[in-house]
Amino acid sequence: MKGIGSVGFQEKPRPECAPNEALVRTTKALVCTSDAHTVAGAIGERNGLTLGHEAVGVVEDVGSLVRRIRPGDRVVVGAITPDWGDPASQMGHASQSTGALGGWKFSNTKDGVFAEYFTVNEADANLAVIPPEVSDEAAVYCSDMLSTGFAGAEGARIPIGGTVAVFALGPVGLMAVAGARLRGAGRIVGVDPVRARQELARSYGATEIVDPSQGDAVARILELTGGIGVDSAVEALGAESTFASAISATRPGGTICNIGYHGHGDTIGIPRIGWGVGMAEKTIASALCPGGSLRLERLLRVLSARLVDPTLMTTHRFTFSQLDRAFAMMRDKTDGVIKPIIDFTTDSTG
Ligand code: ZN
Repeated sequence: MKGIGSVGFQEKPRPECAPNEALVRTTKALVCTSDAHTVAGAIGERNGLTLGHEAVGVVEDVGSLVRRIRPGDRVVVGAITPDWGDPASQMGHASQSTGALGGWKFSNTKDGVFAEYFTVNEADANLAVIPPEVSDEAAVYCSDMLSTGFAGAEGARIPIGGTVAVFALGPVGLMAVAGARLRGAGRIVGVDPVRARQELARSYGATEIVDPSQGDAVARILELTGGIGVDSAVEALGAESTFASAISATRPGGTICNIGYHGHGDTIGIPRIGWGVGMAEKTIASALCPGGSLRLERLLRVLSARLVDPTLMTTHRFTFSQLDRAFAMMRDKTDGVIKPIIDFTTDSTG
């Protein structure tokens, strides 16, 4: 990131690892819509910061205190790499360690993964070794897409056999659909106007699709649920309108989990009537991508067991030197993009 609204390539020295860190040679990475938010200025100026937070690679070197991770290991890193000794981590909110969103370090407070090498803090706790049966391309989806999408399903407290609505079927929403199925949802309503995303959502477990461009999505969901609303809703876009719809479409006593990145505006409104004038006992939860090796190992197990195939979301492939094109595509959502993958092994700018 050269500045707000500007990306490009820059030569940097190969990083060194501190005693508890690992140095990883990047093999594959995914571009995220949140990278586009960052470039648009959502978290302020980040001049000269390397972007990217979803990657797999091979461990090149480890610091003197690293015990479990070894050079040569094929690893996936979490998009969020918490400080595990922090009080927030000890209280079960590791993504918020060292302050709000403090576990989010790559492309926020330190150089990210869109580089030939990156370092990982607390390597033993923030990296997972990829089992042989899982491809790099599948594993890289664990960094953020599976972890965040599943966190939406987990945070929405879906009753077994319950009803769920997932608002927005981008890659995170699609993984929320997959997570809802894994959590035992009985009906999963996917809400999105884009046909290709609707079809993918069905393949991940959506039982019904609501197209918000064809009429009021909340009214349609209420109709589908006998006027009651869904037990659980996941907001996977980060827009005030979908957030409001998620609240209104949820039954009294139900749970809404926001996993969307609200990238602009000063406030996010709650609909007064949809909120039951403040008394409908609806819970609004939120989650930032959970990190950590245990989480990553569980996500990898989902892939080993072939419960979900995230590679269906890969719509475009680029080399490292074409990364700026992938960026523009993710920002403008052109050519039906869902997730562009970057292969660092087929060319090199260095
Ligand atoms: Zn991401």
